Amino acid sequence: METTTNGQLIVIPTPIGNLGDITARSKEMLESCDLVLAEDTRVTRKLLTMLGLQAQVFPFHQHNEHHTTPGWIHQMELGKKIGLVSDAGTPGISDPAFLLVRAAIQAQIQVTCLPGPTAFVPALVMSGIPCDRFYFGGFLPPKKGRKTRWEFMASLPCTLVLYESPHRIQKTLKEAVQFCGGERQAAVVREISKLFEEAIRGNLSELEEKSKQSTWKGEMVLVIGSETCDQ
Ligand code: SAM
Repeated sequence: METTTNGQLIVIPTPIGNLGDITARSKEMLESCDLVLAEDTRVTRKLLTMLGLQAQVFPFHQHNEHHTTPGWIHQMELGKKIGLVSDAGTPGISDPAFLLVRAAIQAQIQVTCLPGPTAFVPALVMSGIPCDRFYFGGFLPPKKGRKTRWEFMASLPCTLVLYESPHRIQKTLKEAVQFCGGERQAAVVREISKLFEEAIRGNLSELEEKSKQSTWKGEMVLVIGSETCDQ
């Protein structure tokens, strides 16, 4: 690996629900880093306290990542080992990280991402829908650009995986029926690794109907099979 300094960027996944999902290596890294960059410092300090760890924590989120990145790159050029976490899951997956990772690589700083919790992998596997080929779409844009995204996604010959919030899931399922057709296999997988973990499976029309009848709370992932996936 080509590097010019001993500084490092370590991307560290944190639990998406169950605290037991933190890995031994993530704990070790949180403790050994010179400082930790966090999406919400309060959330991360709480996690560190629960894990019995101490670390210097600084904010790194979507509102400051652009203007703070050069400063953190400089710190790593001076030899600092920086840990990067988000509120939950793997930074970079629908969370800030990409800008810092790219800038670190450009500055020839060693970058690593530890394996660990993320929501889309367990959701995809739990859905029971083919997971050999999939498209991860993250969050759909809240207003403009949804139609274009749906037209693109509906044409893909693979499983689709989307992040969604409880207040928008009904709208998203309605659009999914409209653009993909009601017959496709789908699943809403919610509250992964938490007390009320649940996978609601069916075809898109059935899920849309269910979403009207019950209020799904918490965090959720929508998985949609391709047109050709087994019914
Ligand atoms: N970085 C995270 C990851 O690696 O999965 C994702 C962060 S994104 C801001 C938050 C979204 O992830 C939620 O709206 C939901 O779609 C999904 N998510 C996070 N935790 C979840 C959980 N425990 N169960 C289901 N979905 C979850």
